[in-house]
Amino acid sequence: MRSSLRLGKVFGIPIDLHVTFILFIAFLGTVYAFHGGAKAALAGVSFILALFLSVTLHELAHSLVARGFGVKVSRILLLPIGGLSQMEEMPEQPTREFLIAVAGPATSVLLGLALGIVSLLLYGRTATLQATVTGGLFIPNLARVNLLLAIFNLLPGFPMDGGRIFRAALARGMPFGRATAIAASVGRVFAIGLGLIGLFSNIWLTFIAVFIYFGAGAEASRVRLKTAFHDVPVSRVMATAFQTLNPDDRLSLAVEHVYHGFQEDFPVMMDNELVGVLMKQDLIAALHEFGPGALVGRVMRKEFTTVTVGQTLEQVYAAIQACGCSSMPVLDAGRIVGLVTLEALGRYLVFAGAGQPANRA
Ligand code: ZN
Repeated sequence: MRSSLRLGKVFGIPIDLHVTFILFIAFLGTVYAFHGGAKAALAGVSFILALFLSVTLHELAHSLVARGFGVKVSRILLLPIGGLSQMEEMPEQPTREFLIAVAGPATSVLLGLALGIVSLLLYGRTATLQATVTGGLFIPNLARVNLLLAIFNLLPGFPMDGGRIFRAALARGMPFGRATAIAASVGRVFAIGLGLIGLFSNIWLTFIAVFIYFGAGAEASRVRLKTAFHDVPVSRVMATAFQTLNPDDRLSLAVEHVYHGFQEDFPVMMDNELVGVLMKQDLIAALHEFGPGALVGRVMRKEFTTVTVGQTLEQVYAAIQACGCSSMPVLDAGRIVGLVTLEALGRYLVFAGAGQPANRA
């Protein structure tokens, strides 16, 4: 189910190309060929590739600065809309976030200026200043595109670098959560303005505006979740009264538990030892395939993730998301003591948030 192609590693950081990007190149090649023949197609596609090399250098700058601060960078993903540095966790120290965010646009500006100087030397002033994105000479165009890339990334909204730089500046004088809320609101207002301007001038601006509008919401809820889950132990919300199954039980017993209780995922125990988990989706699939008489031991997951009772909701939420599970057994010294579900985390957010002033971020 891989959706990307690994191009290689630079400084130990994997560079992946998303399949949509390959389709995008093919699409552009066809469009160029249709309008200007094979030569135009070749020129167009090689320009797009040079553009993406520029994007890669921009992302690499973010990644290398982040790594300098000890942040693990899992990969750089190249998408038709640009690049993405996937990092374990961005630091919340304002200076660090600022430096990581600013490294990308700074690299693009330097690249643009360097290419501009090369262009001046090669073609002179007129040709350099006349560069457009779609026509004209290769080097002047690439210079211009790198400068545009810097400006585009400095737009003041998440997930753009400008949004992070803005938040980092705010976070020097207030808590991180509040800085995020303000940066997200400003990003939204900016996006609405940009979207309206785009409607009357260039529809691409509207497209970017939609991207920024939803990016603001995503970042705001990510940080709100992180703030709410920070420092809360999983023992606070885990279910301590729950049904377990035995590998020799039939699926029909699991179905009875689902009907009569509140549980849809089950730990599977043998001689007081956790040997597997039966998830709702596995149970449904197994009922269709093998029927209610099949044994739990045959369809349960034998490889599964657990959390320990001392872990915070923040860690548990990350673990649940990483495995795509709806629940996880909670262990204490190797013994199961609870079951934490995605629903329980959601309930905690609602009930814990209910006691707080509404505008507290
Ligand atoms: Zn960037």
